[in-house]
Amino acid sequence: MIRIAHWIGGASHAGTSGRVGPVFNPATGEQTGEVDLASAAEVAGAVAVAREAAVAWRSASLSKRSAVLFKFRELLAERSGELAAVITSEHGKVLSDAGGEVARGLENAEFATGIPHLMKGSYSEQASTGVDVYSIRQPLGVVAGITPFNFPAMVPLWMCTTAIAAGNAFVLKPSEKDPSAALFLAQLWKDAGLPEGVFTVINGDVEAVNAILTHPDIAAVSFVGSTPVAKYIYETGTAHGKRVQALGGAKNHMVVLPDAELDAAADAAVSAAYGSAGERCMAVSVVVAVGEIADPLVEAIAARLPKLKIGAGNDPNSEMGPLISAAHKEKVASYISAGEGAGATVVTDGRTSEVPSDGYFLGVTLLDNVKPDMSVYTDEIFGPVLGVVRVDTYAEALKLINDNEYGNGTAIFTRDGGAARQFQFDVNAGMVGVNVPIPVPVAYYSFGGWKASLFGDTHMYGPDGIHFFTRTKVVTSRWPDPGTSSVDLGFPQTR
Ligand code: NAD
Repeated sequence: MIRIAHWIGGASHAGTSGRVGPVFNPATGEQTGEVDLASAAEVAGAVAVAREAAVAWRSASLSKRSAVLFKFRELLAERSGELAAVITSEHGKVLSDAGGEVARGLENAEFATGIPHLMKGSYSEQASTGVDVYSIRQPLGVVAGITPFNFPAMVPLWMCTTAIAAGNAFVLKPSEKDPSAALFLAQLWKDAGLPEGVFTVINGDVEAVNAILTHPDIAAVSFVGSTPVAKYIYETGTAHGKRVQALGGAKNHMVVLPDAELDAAADAAVSAAYGSAGERCMAVSVVVAVGEIADPLVEAIAARLPKLKIGAGNDPNSEMGPLISAAHKEKVASYISAGEGAGATVVTDGRTSEVPSDGYFLGVTLLDNVKPDMSVYTDEIFGPVLGVVRVDTYAEALKLINDNEYGNGTAIFTRDGGAARQFQFDVNAGMVGVNVPIPVPVAYYSFGGWKASLFGDTHMYGPDGIHFFTRTKVVTSRWPDPGTSSVDLGFPQTR
């Protein structure tokens, strides 16, 4: 069993709280490690180190910061296979998917290498006679990230690349379920030449989270996780004077119009519903079949399911791995039972399909005739369960999505450009795919949902990330000829 410690001041740092949490390999069900769970005092100690580091780091030149980001990006690319293996060992997702997660995180490092350009302010010469006005962007100081289990490398990379490039010291509290990827990133930052204390990992649970939310020296908190916790983080963090962005859960709908290309829509639905065992915030969990396409679509999706290869993530033949924990597997299975009990048609039953007996494997489930009042529809299940809601018209499909509590991602499948454009105009969701089932924006746009999928007003990474991790200062300056100086009690006006 490995001991997973904190990372403070550029080095591994054993916990002193006396509290640890178990870490499992979800493919075998074996406990593989113990992670330190920080006390409030340990969080405070780490923040003190970060605070000192932040002072020096904000003085580092833009070219120096950019050079560290370039080196970090290079090391991440070189060692992506190793990092993917670490992710698979604690999360369970298949290696190719873990590699995809690293590749998407790497994009954020690439974006952040452009920090000299991204930090540019604006300049207005001669705003008034002899007066120039300009804006500059400055880092916030110590900022924190609190991240979920389902992307143990990518979500931290969404945050830390931008925050650090902007000149902040970043304190990461990763999920206690799969914390090792965060420590792998810490080592890469060190190897890339990042000064000690600029990147910190503090492992822990609610106690560490609360210590972060209330610590006076933490200026901002970036959070990704489930909606109830996101709401709590937003309310508590802002009540303590912090800037907070808190991304929550999702229920992503994929609308299939009658004119859609059937096989492409079925392929997309299967890939987006069952990839990573449905443990993605951008997973498609509801297919909204409009009109006469419903029967052939359900048939086409069902026909693909027996071919999916379910097995350990480190087996190159596996396409889908286990769920994160035994408790989560039970919860997902109980949703299937609830859906069946409420009258949904179980087309494919993951509870009874053949899967490896060790670990937390569950087969894939397809539920047809799901109704909006069923818990399989209203709740985020976060497992390999796809529900099909049948509607007669585009207007009904749209209403369903817009009435839903969540508004993370959504997609429309059609061959009609006009219908797709109307959908993009009408729909209440933060990320929209047109014949693209998982529309995770590229790194130079920003990621975020609407409604209960995001608390706060800025999205994650990209331009919004720069905005979130910096504050602007506007300077009004004059270099007058001393001979022209005079007393003037009037309110300053432009002249
Ligand atoms: P979670 O909310 O249980 O945990 C997220 C983080 O919050 C972890 O670091 C955890 O230690 C901490 N935490 C958990 N319970 C807490 C509590 N009561 N008080 C304070 N802190 C607490 O989420 P998870 O199960 O790790 O991740 C899955 C969830 O994350 C899903 O709902 C998924 O949709 C969501 N998610 C959203 C996005 C997005 O971009 N919107 C991306 C990935 C995951």
